Order: sequence, then structure tokens, then C-alpha cells
Amino acid sequence: MADLDVVVVGAGFAGIYAVHALRSAGLTVRAFEAGSGIGGTWFWNCYPGARCDVESKDYSYSFSPELEQEWSWSERYPAQPEVLRYLNHVADRFGLWPDIQLDTRVIAAIWDGETAEWTVRTDDRAERTARFCVMAAGCLSAYQVPAFRGLDSFRGPWYHTSRWPREGVDFTGLRVGLVGTGSTGIQVAPEIAEVAERLYVFQRTANFAVPNRNAPVDPEFERVFKTGYREYREQARASLLGVPVAGTGRSARAEPPDELQRTYIERWQAGGGMPFLGAYTDVLIDRAANDTVAEFIRERIRETVRDPAVAELLCPTTYPVGAKRLCQSDDYFAMYNRPNVTLVDVRSDPIEEVTPDGLRTADGFYALDAIVFATGFDAMTGALARIDIRGTDGLPLTEKWAAGPRAYLGVATAGFPNMFMVTGPGSPSVLSNMVVSIEQHVEWITDCIEHAVSHEYTCVEATSEAEKAWGEHVIEVAYSTLFPMADSWYVGANIPGKPRVFAPYIGGVGTYRARCDEVALAGYEGFVLTVSLAEGRRLAVSVSVNPQAQEVLDGRAAAGVPPTWEQTPEEVRAGFAPVKAMIGPGPAVASVRDIIIPGKAGEIPARVYSPAPDSPGTVVYYHGGGWVLGSVDDWDACVRTLAVAAGCDVVSIDYRLAPEHVFPAATDDAYDALVWVASSLAGGRPLVVAGDSAGGNLAAVSALRARDSSGPALALQVLIYPVTDHDLDRESYRQYDGREFILNKADMAWFWDHYTPDPAARSNPYASPLRASDMSGLPPAFVLTAEHDPLRDEGYAFADRLRAARVPVEHRHYGSQIHGFFTMVNVIDDADKAAAELGAAIRAAMGG
Ligand code: NAP
Repeated sequence: MADLDVVVVGAGFAGIYAVHALRSAGLTVRAFEAGSGIGGTWFWNCYPGARCDVESKDYSYSFSPELEQEWSWSERYPAQPEVLRYLNHVADRFGLWPDIQLDTRVIAAIWDGETAEWTVRTDDRAERTARFCVMAAGCLSAYQVPAFRGLDSFRGPWYHTSRWPREGVDFTGLRVGLVGTGSTGIQVAPEIAEVAERLYVFQRTANFAVPNRNAPVDPEFERVFKTGYREYREQARASLLGVPVAGTGRSARAEPPDELQRTYIERWQAGGGMPFLGAYTDVLIDRAANDTVAEFIRERIRETVRDPAVAELLCPTTYPVGAKRLCQSDDYFAMYNRPNVTLVDVRSDPIEEVTPDGLRTADGFYALDAIVFATGFDAMTGALARIDIRGTDGLPLTEKWAAGPRAYLGVATAGFPNMFMVTGPGSPSVLSNMVVSIEQHVEWITDCIEHAVSHEYTCVEATSEAEKAWGEHVIEVAYSTLFPMADSWYVGANIPGKPRVFAPYIGGVGTYRARCDEVALAGYEGFVLTVSLAEGRRLAVSVSVNPQAQEVLDGRAAAGVPPTWEQTPEEVRAGFAPVKAMIGPGPAVASVRDIIIPGKAGEIPARVYSPAPDSPGTVVYYHGGGWVLGSVDDWDACVRTLAVAAGCDVVSIDYRLAPEHVFPAATDDAYDALVWVASSLAGGRPLVVAGDSAGGNLAAVSALRARDSSGPALALQVLIYPVTDHDLDRESYRQYDGREFILNKADMAWFWDHYTPDPAARSNPYASPLRASDMSGLPPAFVLTAEHDPLRDEGYAFADRLRAARVPVEHRHYGSQIHGFFTMVNVIDDADKAAAELGAAIRAAMGG
């Protein structure tokens, strides 16, 4: 068994959230971080002036509405120390520190196909095995210093902005050379110019930059904005760049010049880069349209910089605006009006060498006391290339990617099973608001791992075909834009010898998300999911209890709820009131009405939930409660949730309870109600039976009885942790014997004793449907099981028997959940998730 379920490489925005999400899914996780603090890019890039160029309200996690509401940003664009404080707050708030190991660099990750595990080596000489590896190493973390001749001989200090000394650097009175004028260079330059005796800026390519208009966040703006945060986040998720940008929706080429100027001036005054690029529909796809923005920015540079020759040198002319990252600064261009700043054009006068005293270009020499390199990164692939990653048959990732990165959806790569990349090449990543893209990837990866674990797949691997098709799509979309026209790090042009491949996906954050969701919904289309363990053996995955479920268990323990088997049926029924109060109400449903069904043994009360007119079919639902407790009222919240999720009528049945009415009273009522609904309510539309626990038993038995009698025909049976057999000698019973996990072995014996006091009756298939001699001809089933549940293994057994009889079965196992979680809709998020999954299966069965 592996040491861990998942190793996460890196603890920046991506790694931090990956730890939280995977852990919440009940998996054991460890993140290794090379830095002595968390934060990734925000840890390392602590140079003066470092500031995010995406607004703080956008550049923050959305997964926790409470975090979102309670954290306040001080500035419109957050400075590096504030982002770092935020990330540390997140780690504190969600208790992530125990699963993050700092000062530890992952140096190798080796796949073993025999054990289906990764061996991960770290620079502390330790080795861990893990079933899954999540690479959250960052798109811009492998910094690069140009190989200038003589750098070693330089007598003064030199720095790369991405490895800035944490104690800071004092440039007062020094002659400083700055190489690089990308996003970083233009941020650090004004800060150095402020204190240095002289600053020489060595510019190879001039860059477009627009103002930030940074300012403190107005508390009133924040208050009002936060009332609509959830909706705003939804817009961000569906947007092109991960930030809702209001564009004009028109073409720049078709716009009258006056109007064009008005739009650009407005956006220039408002600040920010994305509003510029999103102003017109054709700015990023049509050179003439793009030129209108480019010329507007060049005019602003000429207006700002007093020396016309310097201004001209600062005007970018060699690539479309936006095709390299559009920089943002409030003071960069004005800095050139200072007498202590000199711009050196190293395009016409290239740097030849570094000497002990300074920097020599082809035509001149610059005496320097310190050099700052803001020369960028081996982007997108550099961080992974620096780890010895080997997939199937020992294939190194660097070898596979020798001609450029290939990855399906940018999230996985063929030949490297169970390895996922957060914002990898081929995903929107650096062309979007990174936090939005990170959250989407982490959530998708977590779902995929959960899917693999719950379905007992040992390996998840992208196919070469899917990867190839996606790669072609990424390139096709890129070449329909102006992006490939620049020598940017997006194509690897900044690294000598790096293959020129356009790495990020420019199709848009919303479009990309939709594609990823489709892939998952189709059972992870484009991936091969394999089981290589001997049949019948369950995977040895260490599964902890879902934190919300644990809170429920802790609450019960604190309240001193006695075990069911120690109580009378009346006490158990009365004891359900606080549970119902804890769960609270379900969602609103358009129409809810109570009806009476004429049963053979008398009236059967029922409740009909109709979420919309023209229901595509009807679900007959049986509540749980061990045939002894529970009612339509008690189960109201979760049945409402299911009705809304399924979008169809659900009829919840108040069947007779034991011990007042023993077997077969409950199943007779259940079946009578089903027959009546079929003939009087369903109107010939598809019919589904569903139920949880003892209600799952009644649903399975109703399906058996419908097959054995003359119907009705059923489109689906939904069995939520069903009771399927009276044999309590199963592994899951042994596991929960005497342990308080909502239900234990003694409780279940107590329920059986009340429902079928005659032990012989328990083997009747209408009490223990697993004992039916023939399972063929039964309706398709959706079986849901929970890990920490004595009923788990009989759920598995029932699904297996149905499958063996060629009945189509979808089995969904909730790896960290407890018995009863489906009913706890306002308390355990997985209840809503399960309702959504069941709802989708019901809609599909009804032909939706
Ligand atoms: P960059 O955009 O790659 O810029 C590197 C600069 O160094 C360029 O001006 C480049 O010139 C120059 N350079 C590289 N090698 C050189 C050489 N041998 N001789 C002379 N000049 C050389 O790197 P960055 O500025 O660190 O930014 C990288 C990315 O990080 C940004 O695009 C952005 O996505 C992100 N970032 C964001 C923020 C923010 O949120 N505000 C801040 C910083 C960085 P050429 O252009 O001619 O190659």
C-alpha cells in the first residue's frame, strides 16, 4: 500500500488549494515545497515593486464563500506581501500546515507499473510512494539568468528578481544595471531608480504597458461588491480570461475613429490591461484592429517621456499588443524623465560580456556596482523539466517533450499514469486569471481521482490520440489569433534552443471549463481507466472521514446520543427530531402536495414534489430508517433536493413501520404505491424507484416484485446505500461492529429483529433481495455506497450480482462518507453532490 494517496509538488496558489481539496475528498495528501514558506511565485518574487496585475477581487480563491466575505484586500492591485499574507491566512484557516512540508524540493518522481504507484524523491533524501502525483510546480518558477560571458567575474552582487533576498537590498548611492523590461522589469525599475545613484535599463524589446490606477479599496465599494460576489465568480468562470470584462462587442476596425479614441481613453483612465484587450472583438485576432490599440499606447508613451529619442525607443513596434503579456505600471514610462535613469538599447547595441566592473555592449561600457536580472523564466515546462519524472517503461518526461510539451487538456500526458498537472501546457493557465484556472483544474483533478478511487481504478492515463487531437486544437486556436506573431515566452522563444510551441490554450476559460466537464461527464473520455488488481480485491486506499461527516459524528458524540439498539422504537423515533432540525429545510419546489394512495391494506399517505410542469417521468421514493423510523416529513429536505436535481416529479411514500407492522407490510405498501403511481400519476411516462438504506431495500424489492408480477416497467432503480441482505457477517459489518458511525452492526441486528421477527422470513428475497435466485430482467440500477457504512459491502454485492445478470449498473462509491449522508443536505456538501449525480442519472434514464 502506498504511503500516501497523493503527493502534491509545490505549495503556491495551486498546491495550497490542491491540499485542501484532496484532503476534503478524504484522501491522504502531502505537498512538498522547495521554499521556506508557502506562496510559490508570491514567495520567491519579493523584489521591490512586485504587485499582481490582476485585481485583488479577482485574484483570490472563490471556493470558500466565508473566506471571500471575511478577507479584505487593502489595494485594488495587491502587492506581493499582501498576497503572501492572504495565502498564509488560507493555510491557517483551513489547517493545511500539517500536510505541507517546506524546504523540501522534489527531485524525482518515478512510476512503477507493477504496483501502480509513484515513488517521489526529495532533496532531504527521503522517498515516499503515492498513488497519484499532482504537479503544482508553477508555470513561471524556473527562473533564467542569461549566460553572459564573464558574469562570474563581476565584483559586485547580482540578483535575479525571482530569487530576491528576503531581507531586501539597499541600492542607495549605487550604479545599478537592470537587464529585462518585461512585467517584472517595469515594476522593479522605478523602485530602484528612486534610491540608486544611477540606473541603466538594458532593453532588448520595448514593451507595451498601460496604467494600473492602483488605489486603496474603498470599504463601501467592497461592501456592495461582496453582496454579489457569488454571481461575479460565476461570470469569471464563464469568461474568456477568468475576469469578467465588459467589452463593446464591436469590431475595432468598424468603429469610427472618435468612438475608438473615446473607448481607449476611458479604459486608459480606468486602468488595467484586460479591459484594453477585451474592448473590441477583433483586437487579438486582426492586426489592423490591434494596431489601433498599439498606436494609442505608443501615443501615451510619447506624451509621457520628454526625450523624443528615448520615447521612440520605448515604443514597441515588433509585435501586436497583447501577444506578449501586456504590462501594467503607473510610473514606468515617467521614470525615464529622471536624470539618473538611462535607457540602453541592447537590440542595436547587444550585451557582449560582464566584466569585474560592469557590463560591456558592442559599442560601450557601463560601470556598475550591482546588476539585476529581470530576465524571466523557462515558462510552462521548465519546472517539470527540472524534476526527473519518469513514466511507463522509465520514459523521462523531458524525452517525451523534447519536441515540445504534449498534454491532454493540459492536465495529463500519455505515458504518465496517475500524474496530473495544474495549469499545464495546453490549458488556459497564463493567458487567464491564474486563480480561476487553478481552482478549475484542482477541482477537476480531485473529482477525477475520487472517481478512480471510488470505482477502484488503479490507473488513469490520457490516451495519445486524445492528447494529439487536443494539441492540434490548441495550435489551431492559437493560430487563429495574433499571439504566435510575438517572440514570447508563450512559445518558448525566450529560452535559447527551446522548441517553439505555443503552450497555453487561448480558446477561453469558459469554453475550456465546459470541455473539461464534458470529458468528465462522459466517464473521462480520452482517458484509459484500468483495474489491474485481482478481481474482488478492494483497493488499499486509506480513506479518512469527510470533515463535514466527522463534524456530524462529533456532534452526536458530544450530545451523548445513545446507540439505536439500546433504545425503544419510540425513543429512536423521537430522537430523530434534533437530526431533522440540524438538517434544516430543503430547497423550494414549485408544487408540493400531500395525497392518499389507496393500498390493499389501507390508505398510504404520500407527498408529491413537482419541481416543474410537464415532468418527464416520476420517481417513487422510499425513505430510510430501518423500517422502524422515518416519514415523508422527516425525509422532506433530501427528497426536495433530489426532485430539484432530477427535474421531475418525485412521490415520497409513508409506508407502514415496524414493529407495529412487520414484514411484509412495508414492502406491500411500497409496491402498492408504485402500482398506483404507475396507473394514476405517471401518465405513461418513465417510472423510477429510489430509496435510501431500508428505503433502498424497498426500492430494490419493488423492482423485483414488478419484474415478478405484471409490472410496472421501470426505467431505473436508484439504491442509496441499500439494505440488501440480512447476513451481518460481512467485512463492513465487522469494521463497524461497536463503532459509532451512525449505524453499526448491533443497530442493524435491532432493525432486522423489529422488521422480521421471524428469522426464516429474512431470507425471503422480498426482505433480502440479494437472495433472489435470478437477477436478470431487472431494471438498470444506480447503486450508491459509502465507505464508513456497515451496509457498504452488501451494496457492492448487490451491484456485482446485477452486473453478473447483465443488468446495466452504475456504481458510485463515496470514499469518505458515512451512512446516512445523503439525507444531510444542508450539512454535508456531498449530499448535494450525490443528489446532482442521481438527478443526472434519473434524467438520462427518462430520456433527458
Ligand atoms: P519576461 O516577460 O520573460 O521578460 C524578460 C525580459 O528580459 C524581457 O524584456 C527580455 O527581453 C529580457 N531578456 C531576457 N534575456 C535577455 C538577454 N539575454 N539580453 C537582454 N534581455 C534579455 O519575464 P518577466 O518580466 O519576469 O515576466 C514573466 C511573466 O511573469 C509575465 O509575462 C507575467 O505573466 C508574470 N509576471 C506578472 C507580474 C504581475 O502580475 N504584475 C509581474 C511580473 C511577472 P525580450 O523581450 O527581448 O526577450
